[in-house]
Amino acid sequence: MRPATLAAAPPEDRPTAALVAARSGSAELDEVRAAAAGCRACDLWARATQTVFGKGPVPARLMLVGEQPGDREDVEGEPFVGPAGGVLARALEEAGIDREQAFVTNVVKHFKWRPSGKRRLHERPNRTEVGACLPWVQTELELVRPEALVLLGATALNALGGPELSVLRDRGQALDLAQAPLVLTTVHPSSILRAGEDRDAAFGAFVRDLRVVQRWLDRRALSLE
Ligand code: SF4
Repeated sequence: MRPATLAAAPPEDRPTAALVAARSGSAELDEVRAAAAGCRACDLWARATQTVFGKGPVPARLMLVGEQPGDREDVEGEPFVGPAGGVLARALEEAGIDREQAFVTNVVKHFKWRPSGKRRLHERPNRTEVGACLPWVQTELELVRPEALVLLGATALNALGGPELSVLRDRGQALDLAQAPLVLTTVHPSSILRAGEDRDAAFGAFVRDLRVVQRWLDRRALSLE
């Protein structure tokens, strides 16, 4: 399917149409993002403000994938601009990774929430919603073609790596997955915000995982020179 027809695809078919177009080499990120803005492949669009698509250079050496946009991301329309994004930015800096050089996104593109007084509280997307949205992040992978892919938290890990993988068991080590030359998992930065008195230790462990990626990217750059 050519990009010009992507936004004309039925709203419920757009994730799959985008992936087909990306795999055939006929899609560009801006056109895919525009098509995603009208996606209706699951029910999450109805209560969210907007689609929150990935952001960053294309191609990019590093791609980071989280679960879904939060309250701030939903309002601003960009991934990882809320409190968890602040933790991620700080951790990337400590690990020696330039965030501006990374493509950041989520497995699910609309904010799922439940009301609590005046607040909107995060709700984990279910398997049907993750499955409906998965072609969008697969499309982003096709376009970004990262050398290193970091899966932040269980939703991203299990969606892209399979249900048998575990963040706690498998974090910080290279996974045998085909999406990139290096695929690694670590916690979602929002878990560090919930870690209470263990927050410093959790942040340190998160930075250590990201340093594994940074060292691998450095070694790869040297070996390709
Ligand atoms: S969550 Fe994903 S699949 Fe569902 S409507 Fe939004 S973009 Fe489409």
